[in-house]
Amino acid sequence: MTDEVTDRTCRTSHPRVFAIGDLKVGLNQVVIAAEDGALAATQIWRDIRCGNGARH
Ligand SMILES: Cc1cc2nc3c(=O)[nH]c(=O)nc-3n(C[C@H](O)[C@H](O)[C@H](O)COP(=O)(O)OP(=O)(O)OC[C@H]3O[C@@H](n4cnc5c(N)ncnc54)[C@H](O)[C@@H]3O)c2cc1C
Repeated sequence: MTDEVTDRTCRTSHPRVFAIGDLKVGLNQVVIAAEDGALAATQIWRDIRCGNGARH
């Protein structure tokens, strides 16, 4: 199975919605959930910092 609902930062097709951990297709392991959380949090921080907090 592929995991194409999110991009590599765990962002969904909605720019303000991220899916991480067990919400995604793939390995259900704590380390994966932690990695996803770090990727999503970093992207959210970048969006805010760049004034990119798109209100869609
Ligand atoms: C029995 C069992 C054993 C496991 N053993 C291992 C293991 O040995 N090693 C390993 O790496 N992984 C293990 N896992 C998998 C691991 O627990 C999960 O992959 C990981 O916890 C996923 O993290 P998550 O943040 O995606 O989800 P979760 O840890 O499930 O966190 C989701 C949180 O959201 C909360 N929540 C749900 N609905 C709402 C709502 N409407 N509003 C607010 N909060 C809500 C829940 O209460 C929960 O606290 C095990 C899982 C199970 C069930």
